[in-house]
Amino acid sequence: MEKLIIGSHVSFNKEDGLFGTVKEALSYGENTFMFYTGAPQNTIRGKIDEAKTNKAKELMKENNIDINDVIIHAPYIVNLANNNDEDKYAFAINFLKQELKRAESLGIKKVVLHPGSHVGLGIETGLHNIITGLNAVLEEEEGPIICLETMAGKGTELGKNFEEIKTILDNVKNNNRLLVCLDTCHLNDAGYDVKNFDNLLEKFDKIIGLDKIGCIHINDSKNEKGAHKDRHENIGFGTIGFENIIKIIYNEKLKGVPKILETPYVSISGGKDRTYAPYKQEIEMIKENKFNPNLLDDIRNYYKKS
Ligand code: FE
Ligand code: FE
Ligand code: ZN
Repeated sequence: MEKLIIGSHVSFNKEDGLFGTVKEALSYGENTFMFYTGAPQNTIRGKIDEAKTNKAKELMKENNIDINDVIIHAPYIVNLANNNDEDKYAFAINFLKQELKRAESLGIKKVVLHPGSHVGLGIETGLHNIITGLNAVLEEEEGPIICLETMAGKGTELGKNFEEIKTILDNVKNNNRLLVCLDTCHLNDAGYDVKNFDNLLEKFDKIIGLDKIGCIHINDSKNEKGAHKDRHENIGFGTIGFENIIKIIYNEKLKGVPKILETPYVSISGGKDRTYAPYKQEIEMIKENKFNPNLLDDIRNYYKKS
């Protein structure tokens, strides 16, 4: 049996570079991971430290992490769908070009991108802007791949259904450099029935093709199907539920696809104090294939001790 490729969102800081991200992923028992090359909400990015990158690659090798499964997430403020502000639009294109260069210098093949929000321009114009933008970003025939993430359809978000993603894929010239990132919370919130994932994959296959799935974000959702909210929940504690998520993670058709958790951090008091990553305990639960109703308390106790 092919092994499960599972990881989570981890942090990348200037001091430790990629080496720090690998260490964090390993501390959660992961064999892949995803990170932002800086803060997710801004576009300030430092230089890539080659020595730390090489150390990170060694550590990955020692621990059987295949760098082809590692993902970068582009900052979510980059918006290719709206070109009202020409400078901003040009900045977004240029930033993504640089982001792909950063990925390349780290040896990473996949960069997840939110397609964008049209912010009043309308769906058609928004999609057109995304296509124009991606054609500029993916000017070269070869290079890292952009995985377009399926979105919840919050506000004017595009990529909320397979048809919109398909339109983008069909109209970008170098679409050999495009794949799709399915996000279980987003699919649910967009109105797809993720509780019947085989059926959903069949739809996806008909419209886009299963070979286009580049990665999967595994999240439970705080909201009902079709709520267009996009609020992630810890595995088994939301409206999708543990059993349904397990069926997605272990789905035969998704073998070999990296699965990334982006579930919320947990605070010790349950209030607004410091929060801690839930991933170690969630991944243990997933590997044991048995729901742990005390998961959140287990996380709190684990961090209280350390
Ligand atoms: Fe995302
Ligand atoms: Fe996501
Ligand atoms: Zn989300």
